[in-house]
Amino acid sequence: MNITDLKPALVWRYFHEITQVPRPSKKEEKILAYLKKFAEDRKLDYSQDEAGNIVIRKAATPGYENLKTVILQSHVDMVCEKNNDTVHNFDTDPIRTVIDGEWVRAEGTTLGADNGIGVAAELALLDDNSLEHGPIECLFTVDEETGLTGAMNLAPGFIKGTILLNLDSEDEAKCLSVVLVVWVLLQLSTIPQRLHLPTTSMAKSM
Ligand SMILES: [Zn+2]
Repeated sequence: MNITDLKPALVWRYFHEITQVPRPSKKEEKILAYLKKFAEDRKLDYSQDEAGNIVIRKAATPGYENLKTVILQSHVDMVCEKNNDTVHNFDTDPIRTVIDGEWVRAEGTTLGADNGIGVAAELALLDDNSLEHGPIECLFTVDEETGLTGAMNLAPGFIKGTILLNLDSEDEAKCLSVVLVVWVLLQLSTIPQRLHLPTTSMAKSM
């Protein structure tokens, strides 16, 4: 079995694509270029702030314009660790993923599921035109792992929404379940009011 055979197919397709793009903290230029091309190819509106953070916006499905804008946040950088006997350059080499029973893991290196699975879920949502939803802002922040400088230096007014769901977590199982909850909520177009979070809680709030 291949990683791209897993379901939900769109999430895993983008997770796989992200593993092919080197993205150490403070060296995020390749993944940021990938995100810009993603937005341009799909004619989605996007902007980038001084810190390097990118927001990609997707308009509401007709009939859902009056819903509040939901922000989904993930960080694009990953922890780069490898085994002593593994030859790998995190600046240039793609991650080699393997399916190991019920788990996806990387061959001799960190996988980057933190926060690649969050990034992949956002890209899947942006790419899936069969979903019905209100206005969405997908926020991709830089440099979470070595100083949180992206989230801390987010330009004022860069995002407009008032409901923010952070798809990051220290706990990868929890992170994946958060992503799945978001997926289901957006499918239903019913983000409940109790999920209101102040924007200051965007770092590690879940
Ligand atoms: Zn993280």
